[in-house]
Formats: sequence, C-alpha cells, structure tokens
Amino acid sequence: MGKKEKEFQIKWKTDLPYRYSIGKLAVKYFEELKNKKITGSKCPKCGKKYMPPRAVCADCFVEMTVEDMIELSPRGTLEGFTVVNYPFVDPNTGGMRPFPYGYGIFKLDGADTYMMHFVDETDHTKFKIGQRVEAVFKEKTEGDIYDIPYFRLIKEEE
Ligand SMILES: [Zn+2]
Repeated sequence: MGKKEKEFQIKWKTDLPYRYSIGKLAVKYFEELKNKKITGSKCPKCGKKYMPPRAVCADCFVEMTVEDMIELSPRGTLEGFTVVNYPFVDPNTGGMRPFPYGYGIFKLDGADTYMMHFVDETDHTKFKIGQRVEAVFKEKTEGDIYDIPYFRLIKEEE
C-alpha cells in the first residue's frame, strides 16, 4: 500500500432508450394545454384542487381520475418572485440560459397548490406580492410543457 495505483477506465457511450408513462391525468392535462386550457384535479373526498393534476390526493390518499379533472383560470396571484441574474446551463436545452429573467411562484384562480414559472419581467421593482398574473400561450400550441412559455404581470387596469 502507499503506492498510488493507476486508475483503470473504459470510455463508453451507450443509448438508453426508454418509455415513460405519464398517466391518464397528465395525458388529459397536455391535451387541454393544446386547447389553451389549464386543468387540475379535485379530490373527491376533501375537495383540494391540484395544479398540475395529481393522481392521488396528498392529504387523504384518495385516487383521482380524469373525471375529477377541472378547468382552472389562466390567471392567478403572485406569491413570490425572483429575478435571476447569473448564467447557468438550461437543463431543457443544454445551452446557457439567457439572463436576466423573472421567475414567479403563484396560485392559479381555483387551485389550492402553488406553481412556478417564468415571468416576462426583469425589473424586480415591478413585482409585487399579491399581483395578478396570466399565462401566455404560444400562438400554435402543441400539447407540451412549452405551450406556456411564460406568465405576464397583469396591470391594475386590466
Ligand atoms: Zn383529498
């Protein structure tokens, strides 16, 4: 012992194809996103409304089905925010994410859970807790997570 042994390495690249089932509620969620509608699920026992929809209520463990899905408003209330001012690798693209950008946490009207998303504002003085926000859909939706690229801050007169 004491003598450092040379590390043995094999460099190898391999494909690892797999299929992931997102479940019936998520399928319906993305179908409705394509129709520019935001859906959630409502627990049939306690009435808690989840966005995005969940298959099982976290509070009472009751299973939810597509029949328990509800349409939610594209508008909500800002509960927290930040403006990101540092560069990092965007896991969605593998490239550097352009900055600065706004990021908010909010509840959509009719939902009991929070969601986070990009906000099209980079001046932190323009964010206010309790401010109204609205989802901005792509013009041509495809039924995927990018159909809502960001939320916008709603001006008071709107
Ligand atoms: Zn419940």
